[in-house]
Amino acid sequence: MIKRMRIHYKGAVQGVGFRPHIYRLAKAFDLSGWVSNAAAGVIVEIQGEPERIKQFLKASSEQAPVLARVRSFSESEIPPGEEKDFSIRESSKSDAVSTQVSADAATCKDCLSELLDPKDRRHRYPFINCTNCGPRFTIIERIPYDRPFTTMKTFTMCPDCQIEYDDPANRRFHAQPNACPACGPELKLIDRESKPIPGDPVSGAIKFLAAGKIVAVKSLGGFQLACDALNQSAVALLRSRKIREDKPFAVMAPDIETVKKHAQLSEPERELLESPERPVVLLRKKGDARLAPGIAPGQKNYGFMLPYTPVHHLLMAEGKMLLVMTSGNLSDEPIAFQDREALERLKNIADYFLANNRAIHIRCDDSVARVFEGKIYLLRRARGYVPRPLEMHFPEKRALLAVGAHLKNTFALAQTGQVIVSHHIGDLDNLETLNAFEQGIEHYKNIFEIVPEMVVHDLHPDYLSTIYAQKLGIPKLAVQHHHAHAASVMAEHNLAGPVIGVSLDGTGYGSDGAIWGGEFLVADYSGFERKAHLEYIPMPGGEKAVKEPWRMALSWLDKIFGEDLWKLDLPLFEKMDRQQCETLLSAAKKGINAPLTSSMGRLFDAMSSLINLRQSANYEGQPAIELEMIADESEPGRYSFNYRQVDGKIIIEPGPLVSEAVSDLKKRESPEKISARFHNGAAQMVSEICARIKDETGVNDVTLGGGVFQNFWVLSRSKQLLEEKGFKVYVHGQVPANDGGISLGQAAIGLWRMKDVLGGSAQG
Ligand code: ZN
Ligand code: ZN
Ligand code: FE
Repeated sequence: MIKRMRIHYKGAVQGVGFRPHIYRLAKAFDLSGWVSNAAAGVIVEIQGEPERIKQFLKASSEQAPVLARVRSFSESEIPPGEEKDFSIRESSKSDAVSTQVSADAATCKDCLSELLDPKDRRHRYPFINCTNCGPRFTIIERIPYDRPFTTMKTFTMCPDCQIEYDDPANRRFHAQPNACPACGPELKLIDRESKPIPGDPVSGAIKFLAAGKIVAVKSLGGFQLACDALNQSAVALLRSRKIREDKPFAVMAPDIETVKKHAQLSEPERELLESPERPVVLLRKKGDARLAPGIAPGQKNYGFMLPYTPVHHLLMAEGKMLLVMTSGNLSDEPIAFQDREALERLKNIADYFLANNRAIHIRCDDSVARVFEGKIYLLRRARGYVPRPLEMHFPEKRALLAVGAHLKNTFALAQTGQVIVSHHIGDLDNLETLNAFEQGIEHYKNIFEIVPEMVVHDLHPDYLSTIYAQKLGIPKLAVQHHHAHAASVMAEHNLAGPVIGVSLDGTGYGSDGAIWGGEFLVADYSGFERKAHLEYIPMPGGEKAVKEPWRMALSWLDKIFGEDLWKLDLPLFEKMDRQQCETLLSAAKKGINAPLTSSMGRLFDAMSSLINLRQSANYEGQPAIELEMIADESEPGRYSFNYRQVDGKIIIEPGPLVSEAVSDLKKRESPEKISARFHNGAAQMVSEICARIKDETGVNDVTLGGGVFQNFWVLSRSKQLLEEKGFKVYVHGQVPANDGGISLGQAAIGLWRMKDVLGGSAQG
């Protein structure tokens, strides 16, 4: 008896070698039929003995290619057909769909063993790849994903490569970047004047790195700056040339064993390091780690990654070094990705350039992640993850664009129930980044064929992203920043709400024009009610207070102690000019250049300054991050907050907390204990406020969003205390808790409200 089945596979199944996988299985089980790409997935018709079909079905998802993610498949029996063989059908034009563009993936095991095999024709070939690995997103110029529309178009495949490319049974069947030493891109090592260095480029680069030089390495999404991670003077040189004082550097290690020598490693962390996405993973330093002290000053963690391109593998396998691998840029500029531009911008930083003639079409930084409760917790979402769509359960099918926030910008495009969140763009405060933002939006619109009917932007009237949105000339929707933070967590978990949205961060424009950041909202996608927030306090000097945390310490001390503050004789006063401070405070009281804020991030800054840990920040969040890093994990004590009820809102007063910290300081209590008591107090406050809101509203679901929740102390203890109170707690994972996650929240709110803005039904 012969049976024929029609199967629809959904998920990430296109451009990942899924059709050849099906083809090989069909051949192996001696089945006939065909496979084809189709809208939102892959369609297979398979015919043969029922038992074999059963085995085929099992194997099709169980043995799927590494990059494929089969989310669901539906099957139905249909009448048998005529064909004797199994074939891969070309997809028709109308089937060209968004999921064609997949993410860049790390060199796979098969390619790696060929790379290191002296008998293989691709031995030491730095651009080896196959359908399971290699560049994707960063080389695509336009769709469909075919070689002529990628930056590989300038290379013509040699006969050997072409045979692989045409053979459905081959691992390189339709691998668009397929190449070999005879026909593909080439590596070159040049100096700052573009003068080629004779000899093998990889060996040359290793020699320079070992001698303490800085080498710019062209990677998948841009240039990285590399130096010997054990050589403190090389690391210090890189810091001074890059104008990056303290922000930690990522380190590339040859293998897991080496990582284990320097950092603690759990099983989920190992898996994440070895995943095809290969993010930088933050890992707890070991006490006897011997990396240069300048790698991660003031940190408990190292950011480690494993090699993910053949060039990295060669450098690691032959150099046996630990290398700093940091973005090829100066300070806060975007990463350099085009050869001439890189040479121009990096020539005062790098001594040599390990470049190549395969162009990068779009820049894409390394992703950064941690593991929280055994799962990925992305801190920066870029290479390896983008442009993978996030599945949403929204009925709205029409397309929209969400432009994100100002800092750590990402944008998002949504259509037919999917949201595509862009790679990390950066802070939109220089022209380079703004260009990357605008060009990025155009590029995503093209490669996904999305024409947005509506744009969602932040409520802040002066954000460059808001101004951009207003110029588009399509219907627009403004979304409050902390509402977007809550909606972002909701969207990740497909929650309908209402939730208690705990949105704690540094800054976001409030509905009343103040700077919000310590917010407890009862929210769903349609709107929110601000139920509780940190008490307003002036930020003396406005934005300056972000870089100079002593301004916030001063503001709080003044609020609590008034004129008596100078009698406190605190260590932080040593470097302060009392006269100047008094002028600043009296200006603040008159409301001169001192906007009001309810920011939790600024309260962390104040505490960092109060204990004299950090009086100036040279990267975003530094005072708070260093405060977390010193906290004594064995300390159970905590400071307290006061709550008062005003017009149905809870105002959270940190007054007691500040005075308790001051009295601990006077008792010469250690900064480690003070920091721990502050953190414990903050987590306790989160759980108490949520309990009060639940008493009033009955809402039991809590979302934890905003940059403060990249602080793992606050994240894990808040979650724990909330769960002890019976709350269901939702946290981020696939998008960052910081402003990199705002575009997803905006998109979700936009999808929900689209029918109100544009009219019509949600089905569109
Ligand atoms: Zn491969
Ligand atoms: Zn070739
Ligand atoms: Fe934020």
